[in-house]
Amino acid sequence: NSNKFDKDRGVNVQVLLRCRPLSEDDMKVNTPVVISCNEIRREVSAVQVVANKRIDRTFNFDKVFGSTSQQAELYDEAISPIVHEVLEGYNCTVFAYGQTGTGKTYTMEGGGGAKNGEFPSDAGVIPRAVKQIFEILEAQNVEYNMKVTFLELYNEELTDLLAPEETSTFVDYKSKKPIALMEDGKGGVFVRGLEEEIVCTANEIYKILEKGSAKRHTVETLLNKQSSRSHSIFAITIHIKECTPEGEEMIKCGKLNLVDLAGSENISRSGAREGRAREAGEINKSLLTLGRVINALVDHSGHVPYRDSKLTRLLRDSLGGKTKTCIIATISPSIHCVEETLSTLDYAHRAK
Ligand code: ADP
Ligand code: MG
Repeated sequence: NSNKFDKDRGVNVQVLLRCRPLSEDDMKVNTPVVISCNEIRREVSAVQVVANKRIDRTFNFDKVFGSTSQQAELYDEAISPIVHEVLEGYNCTVFAYGQTGTGKTYTMEGGGGAKNGEFPSDAGVIPRAVKQIFEILEAQNVEYNMKVTFLELYNEELTDLLAPEETSTFVDYKSKKPIALMEDGKGGVFVRGLEEEIVCTANEIYKILEKGSAKRHTVETLLNKQSSRSHSIFAITIHIKECTPEGEEMIKCGKLNLVDLAGSENISRSGAREGRAREAGEINKSLLTLGRVINALVDHSGHVPYRDSKLTRLLRDSLGGKTKTCIIATISPSIHCVEETLSTLDYAHRAK
């Protein structure tokens, strides 16, 4: 069994690799493919030519999804077990990590949730998780409540993607009540001023997801920034009422964080441009710190630097300890991306 969650290793980080297909434009010009995936051996090989020398490298992952893999396949094999853990009362996080354009948003959101009762086949992880959570809870016939939050982190600044609609101009946006990450004095954090929407049906969440994604794009345009530099965090918190055999009431609480990370090219390039604009530096901080936190958790190397970035502070209750983490590293098969692809493979491989 390749699922690390089943092994009692005290390490609950699972790393998956997904390679997208070539884009139509790439196919038109016969762009060479330099990546091959072996799903059965859970291996990815990359070919790079440097100074006329061919370099072959192979990497292993917990699961590999090649360029013909479908959304449903990735979900059923890799994410569905995590949703079961959440409903057992664990905090779990799924990250999409990779270069811009390799399919992070496609993997996390895809075609979105059901519209007019039709569930699209290209629906991504978020709508599928929502659908599954409601299906399980309804089948179990338990009492529960659920709330969702949708945040964006850009330049170490938080934006609430579910804040009410009046923020349609730049001025409104800037004058909006700020949201801030606060310490709760017990080692935890909370976000002051954050909208939490109580939800009762899957359709409500699909609408919230759509509204939040649209807002992400609006804010991007208003502030003239690129989504490739921001992280988005969609979180579902579920409280389930249970009765012990003695008839006592118990509340089980689980949380699922679904994180679409900033493009990884923002870290690999920064090395060469030391001391550049604040922007690049700040983005790196959350992505770099996430890498360090995950490495520290995987290696059991003592100090875990949660406090070094907002992303890791925000997710602290869902990283390490009794939690499960899944990283979906996304890559392109194109020869033009090979350097970024190799740095994604290295980063993701180190997280194993
Ligand atoms: P990212 O969020 O990593 O920048 P996107 O998810 O926006 O990348 O993907 C870029 C484009 O490629 C989108 O048009 C998306 O629909 C398409 N795409 C990405 N991954 C796949 C895939 N596995 N299958 C089909 N199309 C994909
Ligand atoms: Mg994206």
